[in-house]
Amino acid sequence: MIAENLQFLNNRITQICERNNRKPENVKLIAVSKNFGIDAINQAIKAGQFNFGENRAQELVSKFEILGNKVIWHFIGNLQKNKVKYAVKTAEYIHSVDSFSLAEEIQKSSAKIEKVQKVLIEIKTSGEETKSGVTNKTEVERIAEYCWNAPNLDLLGLMTIAPFTNDKNLIRKSFSYLRNLKEELNDKGYSLKELSMGMTNDYEIAIEEGATMLRIGSAIFGERIYNQ
Ligand SMILES: *Cc1c(COP(=O)(O)O)cnc(C)c1O
Repeated sequence: MIAENLQFLNNRITQICERNNRKPENVKLIAVSKNFGIDAINQAIKAGQFNFGENRAQELVSKFEILGNKVIWHFIGNLQKNKVKYAVKTAEYIHSVDSFSLAEEIQKSSAKIEKVQKVLIEIKTSGEETKSGVTNKTEVERIAEYCWNAPNLDLLGLMTIAPFTNDKNLIRKSFSYLRNLKEELNDKGYSLKELSMGMTNDYEIAIEEGATMLRIGSAIFGERIYNQ
């Protein structure tokens, strides 16, 4: 099932890219494997999937202990400062830098193991209280400047989660806001390339609005079952 889902999804991504004059190789699919086990991940690997996303440090570490660098790991969840070292040890990319102090902590942790950590700044574009991400533009610039100059950080772009709604215009607004923000920063001298946006329910709009990284879980692995 996972192999079929991946094939279906990759075909759709290619079609959407073609319709929008975009190159499919510029849109990276990250399979969000949170709450799914090694078996599911192995099925995806066998089907050719190479990038995986996790949102909890502990879960990522335990999967990393088994799979190591056989795949590329993306940390996409809320990152507590005391868990930073685990994310830095395992994740090629951290998508969820949502505060200045978290950026400092990631720099410190990366320096310790002489790593240059790829990071994205998470922006709250939805206005939803429950979601994390930076809202204030001055603060975004302050964090971007820090990450850009930090010796052990490689700032690649911006990430967002669209509002949870059926209103396509609201979703589109959130993604286009992120794209414009990236362009504004680039006008100020940065050269950010990545826009991490688009999940199972909104990846089509995300591609239309310029996403370069899609984080997709349920369309690949099925509905997640959360144990309380
Ligand atoms: C779970 C999660 C996803 C994937 O969500 P789906 O709707 O299952 O595709 C993407 N991004 C983040 C940050 C997530 O936590």
